[in-house]
Amino acid sequence: MKLHITPQYDTDVLIAGGGPAGASCAYHLAAQGIRVTILDYQLFPRDKVCGDFVGPVAIRELEGMGIHRQEKFRKTNVITQAALYLDGRPMITKNIPLVSGIPDHGRVIPRMELDHWILGAALQKGAKLVPGRLLDYQVFSNGVLAQHKKGALFAKMIVGADGSSSTVARLLTGSKPASEDRILAVRAYYKNVKCIADQAELYFTSQSFPGYYWFFPTGPDTANVGVGMVQENFPQQDVNLKQLLLELIEKDPALKAKIGNGEMEDKVAGWPLATYNPAHPKIADRLVLVGDAAGLINALNGEGIQYATLSGRWAAEAITECFRRQQFSEAALAPYKKKIVEELGFDMSLSNTLIQFIRNRNLNPLWLKLLDIIVQKARQDDAYADVAGGILAGLKPANEAMSASFIGKSILQGAQTLATDAFREASKGPANLTRLAWGGMLFGVQTAGDVMQHPGNYVSWGKGILSNSFQLAGHVLKGINNHG
Ligand SMILES: Cc1cc2nc3c(=O)[nH]c(=O)nc-3n(C[C@H](O)[C@H](O)[C@H](O)COP(=O)(O)OP(=O)(O)OC[C@H]3O[C@@H](n4cnc5c(N)ncnc54)[C@H](O)[C@@H]3O)c2cc1C
Repeated sequence: MKLHITPQYDTDVLIAGGGPAGASCAYHLAAQGIRVTILDYQLFPRDKVCGDFVGPVAIRELEGMGIHRQEKFRKTNVITQAALYLDGRPMITKNIPLVSGIPDHGRVIPRMELDHWILGAALQKGAKLVPGRLLDYQVFSNGVLAQHKKGALFAKMIVGADGSSSTVARLLTGSKPASEDRILAVRAYYKNVKCIADQAELYFTSQSFPGYYWFFPTGPDTANVGVGMVQENFPQQDVNLKQLLLELIEKDPALKAKIGNGEMEDKVAGWPLATYNPAHPKIADRLVLVGDAAGLINALNGEGIQYATLSGRWAAEAITECFRRQQFSEAALAPYKKKIVEELGFDMSLSNTLIQFIRNRNLNPLWLKLLDIIVQKARQDDAYADVAGGILAGLKPANEAMSASFIGKSILQGAQTLATDAFREASKGPANLTRLAWGGMLFGVQTAGDVMQHPGNYVSWGKGILSNSFQLAGHVLKGINNHG
């Protein structure tokens, strides 16, 4: 006689991590009547080190979960425009570009509140919260057994939403994120500062490159101020970001003026980000990774909340279909991976490729000049500004930057700016022209010297550029085939 033992499930889906990705996923699953348990070792409301900028796409996702109806949410600081500063000079201020179906504004919402509200919405829909740290899990043919500090839970599926140092992802891939896929960032809250309340500000200088610093108002006289930088740059410069932030506040005249006599609340706090790596798995049998755990960070601007909430919803849609068909294999979860690649793959690969170039600090003067050129064009041409600003804000598909018109305008502006620079220098006398040529030569000699001293760095830099360019080319070709 065959004995059939029906496994006892503690829950249908176990979600490790109750941040924006895990809580969004839980909300959408619970809305479909699927039993969900969120496991998080922190007690909510809890803080998460962040710039707190919630972009328009994330606002739309929050609206989809009804969070915008809360009085407290409506009181949070609305951002309608962004300003860019280069070497302490204001370069451009523009409204957040209009994209159909997406709100025309962002908000700055401290994570202490935002994450609590999303989690609250998920719990209201019926999700359960269990306090505890996920330590390990095993996938069986009929379910997943997850061990946490205080016991074990048996579920039909597991979702890894446990952030940029995800345990679920580490156990799946067998390793932590590589340092090339890391951005390090710090932030501090300031009070009694001089804000333009509806304006988010981004700052670039050679000291902060390859990275940028920000001033995001949380209200009329309070702000989140921070700096982020790719971990691997070369010639390798080990930067103490906490110290750098304080130095930038002292040295950058524009930022210094904003801070005025303001005081720091609490202290400077840091956290690593893990950027998109297409080679890393996003799904496996009975398993899905979402948000930072899946590396869904735009390397160019460090934005992750929109991708966390989007991936949470997409994962819930794919998992709901798995429950309908009672199939939980990697193949059954493939629609989720396809969605990530189709919707985000190109933009993430483009950002990775640009960052790969920017890592080389010897080229800093060139990147800052390029930024200057783009800004100058954006000042005169609204359509161009919408594309450039939209890509930076993660609102517009990055392939718009590949359009012939955008590239043509950039090249023309570049030629004009460089010619004007050369003309201005030449008009000061022949010695200046020599200095211009000499500067270019010095730059070449410096780079060549560095290549000879650290050949390994340049080999891995070149490899990074090649592999990211191939990824990018793959997306471009796919796009051409789909449209042709
Ligand atoms: C300094 C800084 C500035 C940033 N600024 C911005 C910004 O302005 N705008 C923006 O869009 N993005 C920003 N980001 C990125 C953004 O913070 C992340 O993309 C976002 O938090 C991702 O959400 P998540 O739910 O995937 O992960 P998280 O928000 O990190 O949530 C993960 C959750 O998992 C829990 N957890 C972790 N390990 C375990 C475990 N083993 N068991 C159980 N629970 C676990 C944690 O307690 C946490 O609650 C910034 C990041 C940094 C570091």
